[in-house]
Amino acid sequence: MLFSQIVGQQELKEKIIYLINEGRLPHAINLLGHEGSGHLALAMAIAQYINCKQKTPTDSCGVCASCIKIQKLQHPDVHFSFPTISIAKKPPSTSKDFIVPFREFIAQNPYGTDTEWLDFLGKEKQGNITALECRDIIQKLLLRSFESEYKILIMWYPEYLGKEGNILLKLIEEPTPNTILIFVTTVVDHLLLTIQSRTQLFPLKRLSDAEIQEGLIRKGLDPSKALMYARIAEGNYNEALKLSNDIEDEWLMITRNWLNALFSNNGLQLVQWVMEMADGSKEHQKKFLTYFIQLLEHAFRIKHIGSSHLALLEGELKLVTTLLQKGVDEKEIPQLIPILNDAIYHIERNANSKILFHHISLQVQQVLIPALHEK
Ligand SMILES: [Zn+2]
Repeated sequence: MLFSQIVGQQELKEKIIYLINEGRLPHAINLLGHEGSGHLALAMAIAQYINCKQKTPTDSCGVCASCIKIQKLQHPDVHFSFPTISIAKKPPSTSKDFIVPFREFIAQNPYGTDTEWLDFLGKEKQGNITALECRDIIQKLLLRSFESEYKILIMWYPEYLGKEGNILLKLIEEPTPNTILIFVTTVVDHLLLTIQSRTQLFPLKRLSDAEIQEGLIRKGLDPSKALMYARIAEGNYNEALKLSNDIEDEWLMITRNWLNALFSNNGLQLVQWVMEMADGSKEHQKKFLTYFIQLLEHAFRIKHIGSSHLALLEGELKLVTTLLQKGVDEKEIPQLIPILNDAIYHIERNANSKILFHHISLQVQQVLIPALHEK
């Protein structure tokens, strides 16, 4: 991972690069970031930069033998530790047992989460970082380094350490020479206090919409589509990536079903729709509403500026065009958006979602139906 491949976090990247080049990076650091902030990607970029044979003042080369091995998670001096699951009738598991799937998971998306990782292992089991794993780490770091000056440990989700994490305290306090420990933490309150107090905290910032948009554009997305996902993702680049991959079709279908029920005044269909929506998570509900707001904004722009459609999928453009043909326009859109925003507000405050979606369905219908008849 190059620093330049990490979305946003410019200030922190510069600070860390400066500390590495001055030889002043603390030997035990805690990269604290929310989901999708890029803290694991940053840990990998740090490990790569420290060991790169041809680094520039601002980044690794990305092509030397060391960089290539680290990119593949195959460098003998860069160790990864992460939550694993137990296997029946086998001794407690360690990261070594799961390194092959872990490489595959990280290659797909270094912004992924612990839940996604455990799902990826395909078992509905609790994740854990075991005592055996902690002892294994100590053993590994006691050895002389193989190829590089520094031995590096990246521990992803140290929140999974139970009390056994205290086995590591001596290592953190009196590290073996040329050893860097990088903890990649998401929920600091779940991390052992003894580890928190012995590591230097480097917090990551919430990504801005513009930073996420830029990341998605680099992945080949159209700029306005990228901005739309960035807004929905609320600072979580992992979420933005997922949105850009697959969820859009599902939302388009949800939106279409809702509008069909509303326009045709089909009570049964509407009740079904409300029940399904109420069954989803709060996050899902909020994201759907945000998605619909964005579609309405696109409709408004298409009608009045005539350019927005480039950012839409074929199905979305069709839906937006239908709305416009049905007379949903400059009078209706500004009435609809506050209804939807209010609903987001109430979802955040734990409103009963069945009542809420039923209520806003009626409100939206009251705006849509007259539009249908007037024009
Ligand atoms: Zn290199």
